[in-house]
Amino acid sequence: MTARQTAITTIANHKIASTQDYLENAGEAIYGQYVFHEEAQREYLAKPVFKKLRRTIEGHEPFDPAIMDAVAQGVKEWAMAHGATHYTHWFVPMTGSTAEKHDSFLSPTGDGRTLAEFSGKMLVQGEPDASSFPSGGIRATFEARGYTAWDVTSPIFLQVEPNGVTLTIPTAFVSYTGEALDHKIPMLRSQEALGKQALRVLRWFDNLTAQRVFTNIGPEQEYFLVDRRLAEQRPDLILTGRTLFGAPSPKGQELEDQYFGSIRERILAFMMDLDRELWRLGIPAKTRHNEVAPGQFEMAPVYEPTSVGSDHNMVVMSMMRRLALRHDLTFLIHEKPFAGINGSGKHNNWSMATDEGENLLDPGNDPHANAQFLAFLVAVIRAVNVHADLLRASIADAGQDHRLGANEAPPAIMSIFLGSQLEDVVEQLGKGAMSGSKKGGSADLGVTSLPVLPKDATDRNRTSPFAFTGNKFEFRAVGSSAPIYWPQTVLNTAVADSLCQLADELEKLDHGDFAGLTKILSTIVKANRQVLFEGNGYSEEWHAEAARRGLPNNRTTVDALPSLTTDKAKALFSGFGVLSERELASRVEINWERYVKVQNIEANCALDIALTMILPATAKYLGQLGGASSSRGISSVCERVSGLADKLVDAIGALEHAKHKAHEAGSVQAEARVFCDQVIPAQSALREVADELETLVDDELWPLPKYRELLFQY
Ligand code: ADP
Ligand code: MG
Repeated sequence: MTARQTAITTIANHKIASTQDYLENAGEAIYGQYVFHEEAQREYLAKPVFKKLRRTIEGHEPFDPAIMDAVAQGVKEWAMAHGATHYTHWFVPMTGSTAEKHDSFLSPTGDGRTLAEFSGKMLVQGEPDASSFPSGGIRATFEARGYTAWDVTSPIFLQVEPNGVTLTIPTAFVSYTGEALDHKIPMLRSQEALGKQALRVLRWFDNLTAQRVFTNIGPEQEYFLVDRRLAEQRPDLILTGRTLFGAPSPKGQELEDQYFGSIRERILAFMMDLDRELWRLGIPAKTRHNEVAPGQFEMAPVYEPTSVGSDHNMVVMSMMRRLALRHDLTFLIHEKPFAGINGSGKHNNWSMATDEGENLLDPGNDPHANAQFLAFLVAVIRAVNVHADLLRASIADAGQDHRLGANEAPPAIMSIFLGSQLEDVVEQLGKGAMSGSKKGGSADLGVTSLPVLPKDATDRNRTSPFAFTGNKFEFRAVGSSAPIYWPQTVLNTAVADSLCQLADELEKLDHGDFAGLTKILSTIVKANRQVLFEGNGYSEEWHAEAARRGLPNNRTTVDALPSLTTDKAKALFSGFGVLSERELASRVEINWERYVKVQNIEANCALDIALTMILPATAKYLGQLGGASSSRGISSVCERVSGLADKLVDAIGALEHAKHKAHEAGSVQAEARVFCDQVIPAQSALREVADELETLVDDELWPLPKYRELLFQY
């Protein structure tokens, strides 16, 4: 039996492990068990300390260092009561993965014994040796030091493993010069920028009580699961997270029998395990279902403030990876693990809310509230239009280049879907038609004639990268593996810019001058309406139409990244204090480097597989056929296979040559360009030949598990 056949037999006999006593561990009983949440804080901290800490967590006052030792003591007692022996500062460096270095609480006493120690300083600040994290040139090696600082707004939690427990403190990562070295700091800054401008607008609407505006995030997470024993026979899945070769399965997703289909027992066992572990961590996992492609699934949590929700999404992704193994599954988070069927995205549901609980993207029940809603809506429309290039760049990476514009993924063109009813309202506003009515007051906005806007938009458009869905926007073009921080940073900053411009105008008007407001909004809509699109974003016509409208269409990462270095981008990010020019430049540099490295790994892996697996299998098969070539039919197959073997060797040579040219190109940008224009096409050409061989070579000899096995046998 071949390794593939052995794996398939094993899968057939796979026993589903029941790892949990689910009756005793129902959701309510375990929710937040591993989190230092409000109740735990109350229990482990003295009352004044508790109260002060809550004020900081709720955003009312900065952290007071005077309480740090007391807080650390409480945190330590709580963690040790749960079996923790170590603590770690957890952060998100610009690699895009989370990072952690563990220290034990143990501190030798000098007489051969040891004490558990955890001081305030250990809680609030850490000094990982930062020299090996990418900094995009911010740190020279001689000043490699960076430090981690506790992010009080994101809950402290426990990582509970079969062999022990680690106290985990979410932190931000900064250089000693105070520059951001992580994904989180700019996101927090962008929230502040947006909040400040949003408050100015709210004040014009006579809201004097809201103290803070922040954003909420509800990320729907798509992913694939395949059997581990098959996946581990594919070097491409192990090293790159996607299949670099693979002929289409005779059956794909065309019957549409996977989407929302009943969930296989083995997958459901994984999902149930996942939900329980997430609930323990206070992550509100809510929805689970089969997605469109075979082997593809989705999880959506209840939305949370972005500062917490984006950390939680990092935990979700790593928990999925870990638990999948427990079920002998391999978790694939890549944007396009399989050619020819749907890829995976992250749909970031996003809204702005006040500390009083008002959702600023919720259409109101009365004309005044509707006017305020329209003001925020129009600000977002302008943000997406004016900064379309930056939003596109914020979701760009090597993985996304295989997805955007392909099967069921939004195009690389940024546009907004509002739904027909709202689109109509906004269009009228743009034409200024509404201001024609002379009934005075709010009627000038036409708002009395506004229908009470539906809370549950029934209109759905799955082809739009940025869709309004009732009381929130859904940024649907984000990649499945992407940390949320960066796209949200760009979106928040773009919206801050629009709100700032709107507030500048409003502050020249008397409060309640709705006719004046109408004019302002009308002007903004007129200048930005080209970004509104209700039709099919997957169609060819849209590409032509978007070009006519002058919308940017940066198809690849290499086309998209330069927009982050324009004067417009620099002014935007530094103007709102989100990223200094140096910080921005460092991020862009890291994006370029990452793109080149990923493409290089993929090209190397493709060459390796082609030379050492596919070519030998082809040669063996030719040997087999040679013995039987007295048959006319067999000799014609033999001719085809041997023709393809020649092509395969040529394609390998061409890919090696293209890669060589890329390495010679000079700057990282030039290298990326060669990867994009020459290496990727050469790799696709190699794949085409190999995939054709897969359809001819003896199944017994084929070294890689096939699409039909990966996608259907689990
Ligand atoms: P879909 O029908 O688009 O697949 P889901 O139910 O899978 O919808 O996901 C919707 C997501 O939007 C959930 O995470 C939900 O909590 C989130 N959401 C709902 N309201 C808001 C809001 N006001 N702000 C941000 N996210 C929200
Ligand atoms: Mg969903």
